[in-house]
Amino acid sequence: MFIMFGWVKERKEVGQALTCHCYRCQRTRMWEHWKETEWVSFFTIKTIPFLSKSYLVCSACREPIAVDRARSRFIGSVASEQRLAAFLDEHQLARKTPVQRSYLLAQREQNQPRE
Ligand SMILES: [Zn+2]
Repeated sequence: MFIMFGWVKERKEVGQALTCHCYRCQRTRMWEHWKETEWVSFFTIKTIPFLSKSYLVCSACREPIAVDRARSRFIGSVASEQRLAAFLDEHQLARKTPVQRSYLLAQREQNQPRE
């Protein structure tokens, strides 16, 4: 018997997640919630959802930031917006040197003073 199976990756926008600062754009942006699902397919038909990942994507520069399952449950909840914004801050600044960090934070302060 001949069986054809494979993998299909599907990405789709779930909706708007939150509005907060993007250090790449250096301004406040809308962040979108995207979901990526990997399917096992038989004869090119998606059959079993195998892996599912959530991403927050900046609506302007399209930088995707992977969000773990625990955090992804809070996307869209107004009460958790600050926590997600803090997570994005931390993630976007994580790979910066201390000098880059303080430059970006100073730029942010200059462009839009925190409320
Ligand atoms: Zn951006």
